[in-house]
Amino acid sequence: MKCLSSTVASLLFWANAAIACTGFATRHDIFLPLNGTLAVENQLPLNAAGYAVSNLGRGAYMITDGVYQSFVLVSTAGVVVVDAPPTTGHKLQWAIGNITSTPVRWFVYSHSHADHVGGAYLFANQSNPKVKTVAHANTASQLAERPDPNRPVPQITFKDRYELVAGNQTLELFFPGIGHDLGNIIVYAPKQKVLMMVDQVYAGWVPFESLAASVYVPGWIRGHDQILSYDFDVYLGGHLGGPANRTAVEVQREYVNDVFNNCAAALIKSGTNDPAVGIAALSADVLGNNPNNAWAQFAAYLDTVADLCNNMTSAKWLGRLAGQDIFGYSHAVFYLLVCNRLSAPCWM
Ligand SMILES: [Zn+2]
Repeated sequence: MKCLSSTVASLLFWANAAIACTGFATRHDIFLPLNGTLAVENQLPLNAAGYAVSNLGRGAYMITDGVYQSFVLVSTAGVVVVDAPPTTGHKLQWAIGNITSTPVRWFVYSHSHADHVGGAYLFANQSNPKVKTVAHANTASQLAERPDPNRPVPQITFKDRYELVAGNQTLELFFPGIGHDLGNIIVYAPKQKVLMMVDQVYAGWVPFESLAASVYVPGWIRGHDQILSYDFDVYLGGHLGGPANRTAVEVQREYVNDVFNNCAAALIKSGTNDPAVGIAALSADVLGNNPNNAWAQFAAYLDTVADLCNNMTSAKWLGRLAGQDIFGYSHAVFYLLVCNRLSAPCWM
């Protein structure tokens, strides 16, 4: 059971909550250890400068600061860099300089979010006029609307597909539709069979909070199948250590499918006369303690159904994917708030 924190929930469940929450000061002091997870096993040790490089072969590299990833492709016509997280900063330049003396000639935005591309200015600036910047048209619009000197507005944009030919190397860029962000793209290196789609799959972990904070959840969910339609061996999600593989994508698809099914089952149960989660019994209790307080009724109902959904999900995934104890509840809530009110189901 989640440690209920709201006044309403406490009024409703104070007795049980007091028992369940014994020893928990806040919801942030109950993290489980990560030993044995895929996420720990594929963490790359950082060098003294604070980064790690994974050689993916045939001129392709993944560079990480341990939390974020960039993709680098060395060609005969210059280096292509996909993403430059501000946390990696100048370390990314040093890492590339230690790989090749070939200059950077292209910078690709995976999407607009500053935590992944806030270091774009390190490559795309007035002293590097030969660096071409590439992004989806939606990403360009987002960056143009709210100008940020750290994320220059891209020069080359596309709507559906773009083939970036750089000397002896090729990158296929594809827009799968709105999902995590308005212009999140699939970056595919066919010769190396490396695929990058940032903030889509978190290898060894549950997704980031609230179904990866996606602007359109059905599109983000569809992204799993769109990735798996490619012929790739290495997957880069932009986060959390080393390169991943197809299995990591399939495992997260299974997890998200479980969240969907568990929340659907919890919703059905809430429509019954169940004394614990049935909406009739629940509403009577809440309104008894909070007369005429409709939001109290909504909040208690949402807490209860999300708890039920999340407990079912945890029964299978706690200890199997890292972070279920941290973000699992947010996924249940987000599913209930977003998916349940769409005209089309989230899982398509
Ligand atoms: Zn993002």
